[in-house]
Amino acid sequence: MSAPLLASVLFPMPVPEPFDYLVPEGQSVSKGMLVMAPLGTRTARGVVWSVRPLEAKDKTRKLKAIKQVLPLPPLAHSSLDFVDFVARYCCHLQGVVLRMMLSTPDALRPSPTETRYGPREVSELRMTPARTKVLAVAQGGHYSASELARRANVSPGVIKSLCDAGGLIATRRDVDRPFAPPNPEKTGLNLTPIQLDAAKALIGLVEKNKFAAALLDGVTGSGKTEVYFDAIAAALKQDAHAQILVLLPEIALTQDVLARFARRFGAPPAEWHSERTAPQRRRVWREVFHGRARIVVGARSALFLPFANLRLIVVDEEHDGSYKQEEGVLYHARDMAVARAKFAKAAIILASATPALETMRNARLGRYAHIRLPARPGSAVLPPISTIDLREHPPQSGRWLSPPLIEAIDQTLKQDEQCLLFLNRRGYAPLTICRACGAKIQAPDSATYLVEHRYSGRLICHLTGYSIPKPAACPTCGAKDSLHPIGPGVERLSEEVTALFPQARIEIFSSDTAKTAEEVRTLIARMERGDIDILIGTQMAAKGHNFPHLTLVGVVDADMGLHGADLRAGERTYQTLAQVAGRAGRADKPGRAILQTHQPDHEAILALCSGVRETFIDAELSLREDMGFPPFGRLAALIFSAPSEQEAQNAARDFVAAAPIVEGVDVWGPSEPPLGRVRGRWRRRLLLRAEPQIDLSAMISAWRTRVKLPKNIRLKVDIDPYSFL
Ligand SMILES: [Zn+2]
Repeated sequence: MSAPLLASVLFPMPVPEPFDYLVPEGQSVSKGMLVMAPLGTRTARGVVWSVRPLEAKDKTRKLKAIKQVLPLPPLAHSSLDFVDFVARYCCHLQGVVLRMMLSTPDALRPSPTETRYGPREVSELRMTPARTKVLAVAQGGHYSASELARRANVSPGVIKSLCDAGGLIATRRDVDRPFAPPNPEKTGLNLTPIQLDAAKALIGLVEKNKFAAALLDGVTGSGKTEVYFDAIAAALKQDAHAQILVLLPEIALTQDVLARFARRFGAPPAEWHSERTAPQRRRVWREVFHGRARIVVGARSALFLPFANLRLIVVDEEHDGSYKQEEGVLYHARDMAVARAKFAKAAIILASATPALETMRNARLGRYAHIRLPARPGSAVLPPISTIDLREHPPQSGRWLSPPLIEAIDQTLKQDEQCLLFLNRRGYAPLTICRACGAKIQAPDSATYLVEHRYSGRLICHLTGYSIPKPAACPTCGAKDSLHPIGPGVERLSEEVTALFPQARIEIFSSDTAKTAEEVRTLIARMERGDIDILIGTQMAAKGHNFPHLTLVGVVDADMGLHGADLRAGERTYQTLAQVAGRAGRADKPGRAILQTHQPDHEAILALCSGVRETFIDAELSLREDMGFPPFGRLAALIFSAPSEQEAQNAARDFVAAAPIVEGVDVWGPSEPPLGRVRGRWRRRLLLRAEPQIDLSAMISAWRTRVKLPKNIRLKVDIDPYSFL
């Protein structure tokens, strides 16, 4: 008889660690298996985290036994290691991170089945016009009863009676269909010699069959996607069970992009993002878990899918700010993707036209292979970027376009070409002020100003979504018609452009005008067809859309992102403006980009105009090095929130008082953040800076166990913060 075993089981719920259970005699249990085990008064599903022989010290413990081992393959060890890592690194509960992986419990059961009907040969069948229509449709394929009735345009009763009469045969099949396998032998577009070299380098990386990382550094339109497609094909060829994950910013996950995958590999990839329905998620999760979904294209949470044999990860637009998860477990999907690849001993490709400074430094240090794609294929070039100094060419009072930019728009329209005016501000005006008493209209529960949206007639808090109809009188002093908009949003800009170019067809592209994926698609299609002359867009318009007739990009306020005091202000401005400028011009039509700015000598603006990115990166990196900021040091933010300002302040102060003295760690704060109050809760922030060799996560976790916070205090730990509000 073998020695009794003890299994640690982690449950996908807010628990800090696994619990111990006895393994029933004769039961075979191993790491990664899904089991049912007693938890309190009920039985819960969990994952076996480790198994060891029962020791003498365990004999006195009252251990319960595992109830059932679910008849499923175990989760890959690399997935378990990844959960451990994310929980430790992000200072969050292990069980909560596991819950992110087991996000779709329905997928653990077999697929539901459905009945479908097809034609059957019978000699004696009384025919009616309705039955004839049904049989005609059924000749073309098997359908469910409701689908068959809909397609034949008959009542469901016709289907039933036809079935009873023997004219239709019913078959059952799984609702969740397997994904068609991709075909790695299918050839892609013809690559240029430079692209071929880049593809070869990436294929070499994949063929190492171990952890290896590369930065695929290519300007907009240089063919990055086609190049990493070759690496995906190589991974598929090398291992008949290889799985590939391609991460994209949610906003870039368009049908257009998915169709490119389908064309290249002969089958659509599995899709994972927030707009997927529950049945679609269930199907993807199950197929990924069983190793049958080979290519997954998804937003950041796809990183937590339970891959059976992950061989390659691609993080496209790796610099994109949306990879940072700002709710729940705060993680950066790019950084976590590198960890996921390490645990899976897989290759990872980070692709960008404007790589993050952290990534650039890793490439310069040789930790990542640096693969460059310098130019667009063929004759196309990146558009020239120039500035308009707003100090010399101010717009008219209450207007936002300077005379030289208006002139450029006019020229473009006369050539029958399109303009994009970029202003990353939704609504009509970011601030509403009372001219009688000077009050600024604020949200009642957050330290934010309400933004006027004139189309909807409301004042909206962009942080929480709180909104009120625009009041007729000042809420503070009661003065009538005294509320005055300050500053521009896209709606106000549209008003100005309409007055200047009354003949032009003008549209706004923002999350207010294009709320769903379908609305985005429609708007993009109309722009591509040339149904729009001037597109006024927020961030949404900056990403990845290729408009063949767009030759002028005007950035209305290039300084907007530079006002922020956070360490990435310059970097983010550079990335956003480079991306939006890259929308102008294509192979046969050269374009240009014009930036309106008060700071034409800012490093980021100079680098954009000169086209020499390296000078900007050098300047930013040396600044960060002087400050000891990432990537030369570590940062973490601790955010305390409480129902009252005093409680938030006290909690943060008491926490600081208990700070461990660690050499090489600075503790700054508590300070009142720009967002001092959110949804009625008052906030205080601490910022921690540490030397790179210090394990800041471990230090914070230990620190937290030493301080007992009052029940009404919430503490959020943000390792590598991107938001400083
Ligand atoms: Zn007033």
